[in-house]
Parts: sequence; C-alpha cells; structure tokens
Amino acid sequence: MATLEIRDLHVTVEADNATKEILKGVDLTVKQGETHAIMGPNGSGKSTLAYALAGHPKYTVSGGTVTLDGEDVLEMSVDERARAGLFLAMQYPVEVPGVSVSNFLRTSATAIRGEAPKLRHWVKEVKEAMQRLNMDPAFAERNVNEGFSGGEKKRHEILQLELLKPKIAVLDETDSGLDVDALRVVSEGVNRVRDNGQVGTLLITHYTRILRYIKPDQVHVFADGRIVESGGPELADKLENEGYEAYVKGGASA
Ligand code: ADP
Ligand code: MG
Ligand code: MG
Repeated sequence: MATLEIRDLHVTVEADNATKEILKGVDLTVKQGETHAIMGPNGSGKSTLAYALAGHPKYTVSGGTVTLDGEDVLEMSVDERARAGLFLAMQYPVEVPGVSVSNFLRTSATAIRGEAPKLRHWVKEVKEAMQRLNMDPAFAERNVNEGFSGGEKKRHEILQLELLKPKIAVLDETDSGLDVDALRVVSEGVNRVRDNGQVGTLLITHYTRILRYIKPDQVHVFADGRIVESGGPELADKLENEGYEAYVKGGASA
C-alpha cells in the first residue's frame, strides 16, 4: 500500500522581487485507496500544494519533507515523480499545440510503464476509457487542450488518470466549471480508479458540490497555507452551511 507523507511543508514563491511564503507547514498523510478532500477559500494555497507535490519549478520548498513509500519525493524530477506514481490534474490544464490526445496519452503511458503499450490492446483500452467518460472518439485526434471546453479539459484529465493508473492522484479543482452531467461523469471516473486500482486521492476543491458524488474519507480545511481543521465527511456539511468565514477571520490561522 503506497503512502504519501507530507510533513511540515513550507513553500515560497518569488513575487515582486520578494520571497513570499505560501505554504506554512502542511501535514498530511494519504494512503492508496483513501480519498482526502482539501477545501479552502481562494488564495489559501491549495494549488501551491498541488504544484509543489508535482515539482513545479516556480515553487520552492523551504522546509519540510514529502515522501512516497519512504522515498524522498522532493529529490525527484517531475518525470521521476510521475513514474513513482504521483499524478496531478491541474486546475488550469495547459495547451500542447501539435500533439494529439492519442499521442500524448501513449507517450505518457510508455514513460510511466517503462515500455510502450501493445498497440492493439492500447487502442481498445483508450476507446473503452473514452466511452466511459462519454467522450467522442474523434476527440483523440485533437491537440491536447487546444480549444477544449472546460468540461472537455477536465474529462481529458480524468482520462489520463484512468489510463495512467497512479498510486496517488492530486486533483486540483477538477470540479470547477463543470455542469451537473460532466460533474457526474468526472466523479464516476474518480470513483472507478479508487475502487479498481486503489488510487489514493487528494481532491482539492472550493465547493462541496463534488462531495455528493465522491465520498471522502477525510475532509481538511485549508486556510492561509496550512490545514486548520480535519474531520470526516460531516465537516463538508458544516462548510456548506457556514462557509469559510470562521477560518479566515477567526483565530484558526493566526
Ligand atoms: P488557491 O489554489 O487556494 O486559490 P494558490 O495556491 O493559487 O491558492 O495561491 C495562494 C497564494 O499564493 C495567492 O496569494 C497567490 O497569489 C500566490 N501565488 C501562487 N502562485 C504564485 C506565483 N507563481 N507567483 C506569485 N504568487 C503566487
Ligand atoms: Mg487553486
Ligand atoms: Mg497564518
């Protein structure tokens, strides 16, 4: 069972010629098969956590540790992290002009599995995964994220998740901007990989809506660069009713 352990993680960025601390000591353990929701107001540092885990060069780890099964993640390059079993679905997926979805997926799968998937088998695998996500097969020949609608971008992230089968997946606001139908399809995909492949999920979200479809084992409230409260699914209900005000204005993050 893979375990991601984040201990006292501090992360800074350079902004306006100054170093700004965004993450101020994050502690979190995610095991394969578990779902953790991270919920917090805009600007609290949720995406910074996702980027730091993925190894984005703009985010400097200034303290703390991140390990996956005891291996030092922070020492790994971005592609080593992916091969180790970490997956990030970005809040704002980037366009990759000139690269088709089909090529992109096969290249990624080859890199992660260590060998090219057998073509016949692979074509079938992709086709079935796309069907489950209600994606038009023609989509495979489009360039990655170029002109994709919000919903198409998020479905494409979940398609990657289903095909690449990571140990730990970080999904950064995969729910934002989705209509109810797309939200359900995307959520079903997340639930499938959890139920089949024992993926551990860090579900970052601003809204409680997605938690009607994806049941978290734990909910963590994120405010001002750290987790300020953790609890079961009932904590999401409390947030739904009361919002984040208590955490932002109150003494929780002082
Ligand atoms: P969230 O995802 O919770 O909305 P972010 O992690 O995107 O929060 O941002 C947290 C804070 O860090 C914000 O004040 C944001 O402006 C700042 N920040 C994030 N990334 C950068 C960056 N690359 N350069 C400068 N400031 C950044
Ligand atoms: Mg964000
Ligand atoms: Mg503080």
